[in-house]
Amino acid sequence: MAPRKLAAGNWKMNGTIASLAEVETLMREHGSARCEILICPPATLVHPMVERAGQGVVAVGGQDCHAKDSGAHTGDIAAEQLRDAGAVYVIVGHSERRADHGETDAAVSAKAVAAHRAGIASVICVGETEAQRDAGQTLDVIARQLAGSVPDCATAANTVIAYEPVWAIGTGRTPTNEQIAEVHAAMRAALVARFGDGAGFRLLYGGSVKPSNAAEIFAIADVDGALVGGASLKASDFGAIIAAL
Ligand code: PGA
Repeated sequence: MAPRKLAAGNWKMNGTIASLAEVETLMREHGSARCEILICPPATLVHPMVERAGQGVVAVGGQDCHAKDSGAHTGDIAAEQLRDAGAVYVIVGHSERRADHGETDAAVSAKAVAAHRAGIASVICVGETEAQRDAGQTLDVIARQLAGSVPDCATAANTVIAYEPVWAIGTGRTPTNEQIAEVHAAMRAALVARFGDGAGFRLLYGGSVKPSNAAEIFAIADVDGALVGGASLKASDFGAIIAAL
């Protein structure tokens, strides 16, 4: 059976308790969505969001976790703590963390391992910069990031891969459908070669997904959903994307 498609929202460093009203609207209007719905709010909102969403249609996730389970790491959060707060997913290796915090592929892989150890699924992000695309290096960069960031313990059940071209994030620009298809086919082939059951991994596209381009992107082969930043903050926009899946 084909895995359920996934509409994942990444609120980044946005949102307060008042923003939880958006989740209630989503649940009211998309309670019978065919796809799985995930929202990754800032850590302060994980537990309050879980309480609002209850056993409802919206799954809640973190935006990052530490590779260790506990200890002297001021400001960090462990996967186990996210799980304790009710999270069932965690994003790792987002390009903003790779850029802002110098996270390497090895660090991202260690975070994914920590997530799986805690019983949380990882959403592992990869993506080329504009300079890398212009230099014709996209497929090499993605292959290298996948090889280094996806741990050996990854399975289709505990891991989702998100292709997010860095230059498409928050810019309103997106690759052509052919460019997305090319990268997703290459990712699928790499996962099949390494894990055998790679066909089962869900591959998300992320980067300026919005209501007006969602249906077109979701129609591309090997696109199993989206990781949505800005357009996930409002129930009306995210709801329209969910409806397109
Ligand atoms: P965007 O962000 O949808 O605002 O472009 C996507 C992301 O960074 O996950």
